[in-house]
Parts: sequence; C-alpha cells; structure tokens
Amino acid sequence: MRVTIFGTGYVGLVTGTCLAEVGHDVICVDIDNAKVEGLNRGVIPIYEPGLESMVKANHASGRLNFTTDAAAAIEHGDVVFIAVGTPPDEDGSADLKYVLAVARTIGQHVQRAVVVVNKSTVPVGTADKVRATIAQELANRRTTLVFDVVSNPEFLKEGDAVNDCMRPDRIVIGTDSAQALEKLKRLYAPFNRNHERIVAMDVRSAELTKYAANAMLATKISFMNEMACIAEQVGADIEHVRQGIGSDPRIGWHFIYPGAGYGGSCFPKDVQALAWTAQQYGCNPRLLDAVEAVNAAQKQHLFELMQRHFPDGVAGKTVAVWGLSFKPNTDDMRAASSRTLLAQLWEAGARVQAFDPEATQEARRIFGTRDDLHLCATASEALQDADALVVVTEWKQFRSPDFGKLARTLKDKVVFDGRNLYDPAEVEAAGLAYYGIGRGRSL
Ligand code: NAD
Repeated sequence: MRVTIFGTGYVGLVTGTCLAEVGHDVICVDIDNAKVEGLNRGVIPIYEPGLESMVKANHASGRLNFTTDAAAAIEHGDVVFIAVGTPPDEDGSADLKYVLAVARTIGQHVQRAVVVVNKSTVPVGTADKVRATIAQELANRRTTLVFDVVSNPEFLKEGDAVNDCMRPDRIVIGTDSAQALEKLKRLYAPFNRNHERIVAMDVRSAELTKYAANAMLATKISFMNEMACIAEQVGADIEHVRQGIGSDPRIGWHFIYPGAGYGGSCFPKDVQALAWTAQQYGCNPRLLDAVEAVNAAQKQHLFELMQRHFPDGVAGKTVAVWGLSFKPNTDDMRAASSRTLLAQLWEAGARVQAFDPEATQEARRIFGTRDDLHLCATASEALQDADALVVVTEWKQFRSPDFGKLARTLKDKVVFDGRNLYDPAEVEAAGLAYYGIGRGRSL
C-alpha cells in the first residue's frame, strides 16, 4: 500500500521503516530540512538498535523515501499517518499545535479519499479536532471529499522500537468506519500473522488506551520508588522485596525496578496530560498526581544521597556520571533523571565528568560547552581524578565494573548506584562506600 507519514522522529521513522520493510511504499515527510537531507544521505538522526541498516536497505530499494514536500507526500498516500510530537504545554496538557498543523496541511492538499491515522499520543477528542480541521480546510477550498480519521496509538519502546514495531503485542485501531478498519487491517496484515493482535474499538477508547497504558507503567515505577523510600527508612533492602513480589503473576517482574525516577518523552508528559484531561472532565486524578509527585521527588534522590555522604557539600568535587540517556539503548535525554542530577550538582558547585555510550552528542546539544562539564569518550575517562561515581542509566556496560580499580581511582571512594546494579557487599568489600535506591542496609 502507499503510505505517507508525517514526522520522522522515533515513532514516524521506525513505523515508516517497518512498513517499508514488509513491502509497503512509504514516504516520510518532515519540516526539518536537515533531518530529511540527512536521511536521504543515510544519516539516521536517532540512535535505535537495528534501525540504521533497515532505513538504508529500504531507502536503497526505493520503498522508503524522505521529503519536506508535504503536498507531494499527501498525493502519494492512501493512508496518511500523523506521527509528530505532542509535547506538554505549560499547564501539563498535551500541546496539539504540531498535530493540528499537519491536519491543516492535509486539508489544504488532499485530492482524494484518504484514511488519516493519528499515531501521536493525543488526548481524547483529538481525532474530532483533526477531522474538523481537515474539513475546515476542505471547505476553504470549496472541496468535498470523504475521509476518515482513525486513532492508532503507538506502543513501541525506545531502545527496542524496531522489534516492537515488527512484533507488536497489540495493534489498537480506533474507528467507527468499517472501510477504514479494513484498510488498516490490510496494512498491518504482515505484522498480524501468527495470532490476532488487532484490537478494534471506538476512537475515544483508543485515544484513552495509550494514556492508560503509560499511566499504569508509570504507576508501577512510582509505587516501587515509594516502597524503596520506605525500605530505606525501615532498614530493609528493596531488591529483596522486589524478588519477593515479582514472582506473583498478578504483580509480575516488569516495571518493578526502583531507580532514579522515570524520564523520557512519554511517561512524564502523558501522566500529566491524562491528569489534566481528568480535571477537565471533573474527575479528580488523585493517583496520577501522586505518581507524578513521587517521580519528581525520586529524581532528586541521588543528590540527597550525595548530600548525606558529603555533609559539607559537593562544592569543588568532581563527580563521574555514568549514563545520561533516560534509559539504556537510546540517545534520548528528554526529561532524563540525569538532567535533574546535573543541574543540582552544578548548582552546588560540583564539576561533572559524564560518559554515555550514545547520548554524548545530545548532551552537547542540550548543555553546550561549560567549564563544569566534561563529556568523556569512555567510562574510565569519566573516573579520572573524580571524587565519586554516580550511575544514572543502567547501560549493560556499567553492570560489572572492576570495583578494585574503582576504589583505587575514586578519591572519595564512594559509589552512588541509581539503578541498583551492584551488590552492596561486593562494592563495600572493595573498600568503597555504597549508596543504592531503597537499600536500607547502606544507612
Ligand atoms: P519526535 O519529537 O522524535 O519527532 C517528531 C517529528 O515530527 C520531528 O522530526 C519534527 O520535526 C516532526 N514534525 C513536527 N511538525 C511537523 C509537521 N508539521 N510536518 C512534518 N513533520 C513534523 O517525536 P516522537 O518521539 O517520535 O513522538 C511522536 C508522537 O508519538 C508523540 O505524540 C509521542 O508521545 C508518541 N509516542 C512516542 C513514543 C516514543 O517512545 N518516542 C512511543 C509511543 C508514542
């Protein structure tokens, strides 16, 4: 099928590439000229495992193309996806300006019946706004066309996005149009072969499903961080508690890891946007507000542990930071916990030597050049002449450091483990002080 995708970010680029991979003819359109030019030369703007070779192969085959020419792109597609950003507005609501700008563009250029598919995460009622915006533009052109607006939220995880897209757990399609549903079933048939993954529903339920999924996952994380806070105070180890509860299938092992707080482009903004929607409809989102508040506090916790260890403050200290991205296997630093920590360290007068396997360029873009930040090429370089080590992101390569070497290198011989990667006894046996999340025994 002929597919057009607006937005070549994490969602648009991965979706477009996977659709091309299974044989569809895809044009991705973006307003970012540099991004589009780069993609046409094989430069992938994000780090996502497995993506680069797939983009290059499908581009070379002619099934995946990139353009800034919205009119030509709209002319191409029988199905037109909207996969642009929905950042938080100042009041926490989802800012729909990019989504509605695309809707206007579609309305201005569309020449035939199309199915418009919204993949961006948007509040309930947005499909109606998209439909009204397109209809208004068509009316301005004195044109009548039949078109559908479908909600098809995306559930991919950054860091495993290609795999999620090629083998989705479920494909949620929200529409009241039998024809649109049929078209999307055909589009997704290659991803739906072994067992039924399509969950069809009405548009509003589909829009809410995405927020419900992210809010549930964020709730699990904040719940565990609250348990970690209790464990730390009562002298229990949250890692034992985690082992003790995860085997219950009603609880499960996923998303019960305590840590330095959740970040990224989705959970923080989606929890807030859902709370905002709830308020608009007269519901009091007590749980969502608490999930957000626990997370905001958790992002401060590594620094609190440092203050505990350095009662005279960290001014003048050099702190090695391992991990800047909001989670492993991505270069995305949006709302990353590392950003909260770095801001606190700088405010307190510390110098940071940071290493991240993929996010160095992004960190340079965000922080620019500053005297109190050195972005290192390796994990060991970050340790040189450092007083303390803080692990913020659980990249695999940070899991088994040589603790003896760490003890010989770090001047203050202390490790702050923001993801509970290490066995406290092993770290302490090497002569280092250890602080983890919710590990009461380290008090
Ligand atoms: P992103 O910021 O990485 O990419 C958005 C892209 O859209 C940018 O390249 C931008 O230049 C482009 N864009 C903006 N306006 C445009 C326009 N008028 N025409 C064409 N392109 C335009 O965003 P993302 O992370 O891919 O997220 C997109 C949406 O998907 C958001 O609503 C997000 O909440 C949702 N989502 C994201 C993820 C994720 O893991 N990143 C997962 C599921 C859902």
